Amino acid sequence: MQKALRKLHSVASMSRPAANGKARSHTPTTNQDLASLFECPVCFDYVLPPILQCQSGHLVCSNCRPKLNCCPTCRGPLGSIRNLAMEKVAQTVMFPCRYASSGCVATMSYNEKQDHEETCEFRPYSCPCPGASCKWQGSLDQVMPHLTHAHKSITTLQGEDIVFLATDINLPGAVDWVMMQSCFGHHFMLVLEKQEKYDGLQQFFAIVQLIGSRKQAENFAYRLELNGHRRRLSWEATPRSIHEGVQAAIMNSDCLVFDSSIAQLFAENGNLGINVTISMC
Ligand SMILES: [Zn+2]
Ligand SMILES: [Zn+2]
Ligand SMILES: [Zn+2]
Ligand SMILES: [Zn+2]
Repeated sequence: MQKALRKLHSVASMSRPAANGKARSHTPTTNQDLASLFECPVCFDYVLPPILQCQSGHLVCSNCRPKLNCCPTCRGPLGSIRNLAMEKVAQTVMFPCRYASSGCVATMSYNEKQDHEETCEFRPYSCPCPGASCKWQGSLDQVMPHLTHAHKSITTLQGEDIVFLATDINLPGAVDWVMMQSCFGHHFMLVLEKQEKYDGLQQFFAIVQLIGSRKQAENFAYRLELNGHRRRLSWEATPRSIHEGVQAAIMNSDCLVFDSSIAQLFAENGNLGINVTISMC
């Protein structure tokens, strides 16, 4: 009896290294296999907490869910059953970045995913022209060719110190003025935006964005200056990258902001000249 037990024991311990070896060779795919359990059957993005399932246990992501009348897998009712076990598992899984197919190799926990993807250098660039009319997206090196082909009317000035002349600033309604400035081997887009607020109050926002990544933008500084008779208004900051765009900065007034009375102080015949100086830091 004791012999038999010992024998069994030794068999078990002999088989253990083999089992371990097998487990180890599977380790690199295990996390990926786990992550694939979270794939939405509709859009193939990941289903992340809070995770809701249908009555039969199928998952669908929170983006697709509101657009569906029934479970895409079994056609049963969607209901609103939380799957707490899958939410627990989700906390242990490293998910690949949404831009993995564009070359990003980063993986991260689900709660870091959104922040990473927002700044991921593999996220496609959108057209940097203000206003949402152009829907173009592409890689950074395609941005300049896009601008020269699709936005031919934008003028470019060479040099680190130029004057951005906005004509007819008294035009009614919301207006954008755009210009390009080339210096230090880079291209910068200068934007002056006029917004009409309540009671006809008009506000102007002027800002500079680099046709480049956020990292590249950190190497530069820009200065915007309005010069008039014994008056000067100036603003200095780091240019935005076109990857983040200028809309958030304009909304937060993180740019040169002035109202139409100030604009009148510096304008001549309805035209406003803004001195733009780019420097390296
Ligand atoms: Zn989905
Ligand atoms: Zn289902
Ligand atoms: Zn990424
Ligand atoms: Zn465009």
